[in-house]
Amino acid sequence: MQRIFIFLSLIFFLACKEQSKETSVVSNVETANEETQKIEENFGIVIHGGAGTILKKNMTPEKEAAYKKKLEEAIRVGHTILKNGGTSLEAVEKTINVLEDSPLFNAGKGAVFTSEGTNELDASIMDGSTLNAGAVAGVKTVKNPINLAREVMNNSPHVMLSGAGAGLFAKERGLEIVDPAYFFTEERMKSLEKVKEKLKTKEANKTTAFYDPVINDSKFGTVGCAALDKHGNLSAGTSTGGMTNKKWNRIGDSPIIGAGTYANNATCAVSSTGWGEYFIRGMVAHDISAMIEYKGVSLQEAAKEVIQEKLTNLGGTGGIVAIDNKGNVAMEFNTAGMYRATMNTAGELVIGIYKSE
Ligand code: ASP
Repeated sequence: MQRIFIFLSLIFFLACKEQSKETSVVSNVETANEETQKIEENFGIVIHGGAGTILKKNMTPEKEAAYKKKLEEAIRVGHTILKNGGTSLEAVEKTINVLEDSPLFNAGKGAVFTSEGTNELDASIMDGSTLNAGAVAGVKTVKNPINLAREVMNNSPHVMLSGAGAGLFAKERGLEIVDPAYFFTEERMKSLEKVKEKLKTKEANKTTAFYDPVINDSKFGTVGCAALDKHGNLSAGTSTGGMTNKKWNRIGDSPIIGAGTYANNATCAVSSTGWGEYFIRGMVAHDISAMIEYKGVSLQEAAKEVIQEKLTNLGGTGGIVAIDNKGNVAMEFNTAGMYRATMNTAGELVIGIYKSE
């Protein structure tokens, strides 16, 4: 009888142990799920509206308020998409559309003028989950070049289209086509005239003359966006009119994947703005990603070294906005200012223009 009792007690004890093991396994799984949920819920967005000699003393309170208002309007569009579970690609495209449609920025409406008084627009977009990318250069009639870049990525076998061919593809894809006059703004025309006037005092025929940094570094005004969505996917995009008084179908860094735009889920998403030739030579956007990937440094460390050391030592000016796959953000520039804004998962908004903010 005693033996039976001991035997039954043993079975009961073992059964209880098994049960508690299961409970702890279940609770471990639940904790893990909660953590995954937390990580997946993490999202964020960062934008720029160009970098350059942007000084408070040259800015009226009205103008400053107008820039901040537009930056906020744009970033809220992207943030809402991300909050509702939309993709980072969608957020990047729609955020940039707001900036392209505003004459305040050098992209879409308000693009700077070429030496001939025309507008030639460049843009690119990259999907960090697939490393797929699309870019367009020298586009003259497409209202929102970033949309065309996305079309190139999604609906063509190519990464980059240029000039008339890109325009033709835009028509075939049913994108909004506008008369070139749509891009005209009085302010940008005045900038062109000012640059040309200043160049008269220089040897205007020299091939380098129209890139005199002092003359052209008014403010660049390109727009860009980098975003992380709830699904853990990173994307980046950039759109621009290029540089005032550009000639010979010059193409800057903005449509060059790796220079003006780069995104990789393994590292970060980056959009650049500044003196394009230097960003191309430094492969700035990709270099930041590569430093994270190969060196294991943080996004902030990588951005700082690439902009403050490498780009600066090369003689380049400008900046980047970037976000990594954990939602950390970098807004690094070596100019007096950069129009910028960022919003995180909690909806906290930060807007900046000048260096000391
Ligand atoms: N990076 C652009 C370019 O060189 C200009 C800018 O950022 O404003 O075309």
